[in-house]
Amino acid sequence: MECLICKSKSEFFFSKKYEEEPFATFMKDIGSVDYYKCTNCGFTVSKTHGQLTTAQWEKLNFDFHDDQEKNIQLRQINQPPYLEQAMMVNILAANYIIDTSDMLDFAGGHGTLSNVLGKYFNINLPVYDPFMQNSERQIYVAKKNLKKYKVVINSAVFEHIITMNDLDQINNCVADDGCMILHTVVCENIPHDANWFYYAPPVHCAFHTNKSMEILMHRWNYTSSVYCVKSKCWVLFKKGAKVTDIEAKVDAINGEFQEKYLIYKEGFVDYWKGF
Ligand SMILES: [Zn+2]
Repeated sequence: MECLICKSKSEFFFSKKYEEEPFATFMKDIGSVDYYKCTNCGFTVSKTHGQLTTAQWEKLNFDFHDDQEKNIQLRQINQPPYLEQAMMVNILAANYIIDTSDMLDFAGGHGTLSNVLGKYFNINLPVYDPFMQNSERQIYVAKKNLKKYKVVINSAVFEHIITMNDLDQINNCVADDGCMILHTVVCENIPHDANWFYYAPPVHCAFHTNKSMEILMHRWNYTSSVYCVKSKCWVLFKKGAKVTDIEAKVDAINGEFQEKYLIYKEGFVDYWKGF
């Protein structure tokens, strides 16, 4: 098959069968998952997920998220570090690296980050989520009202995409002078190991590499990035971003905190080199 990201040839990588409950039941009708890895950029995708019907995909997501909510203590799921993310947004804004007056949390689910930012940092973060369109809550943006934003956050979204269009939809919300804040796992090499933690949730179907992210940045016109180890977030800056001297600002922040809180690079910050 063809790589979603770079269009090079993707080859069969390995198959995984979900044997443990409750995932074995969720995946009973779908069967084992076939992963394909790109021969050029290493981006790895589940061909099986790409062939599900919309109804199957929605049911799998519903079963998974419903189970997680009911068993949050038991499953000890790996939730995004919401407090650290909120703290990072606040620090970037205080240093004029991002503009929080015009933000969106794309596929922000129940709005956890929005709640934390609002309550503790007095920062307004509207949320778009395709599955929360019927919510009465003020924080939600209807699909028809989506526009371009100076800052688009997406947390734990990139690993759930099935088509390039899913990714383009997120980027399409970022203004030409804006930035994208991204929380996911990005590796140098996607492991050939069915027990790798990131394959564990049966709703994870896309696995990004430093090289595939660099290709995406180039295609979408992002020129530089910052990585924050504590919030496990990248900030990708569009070519037209008006913020100047990002590198100098990052150095000043690190000096202020006496630690390497942020890392700056032209292109994609390939922090997770050894993985
Ligand atoms: Zn590729």
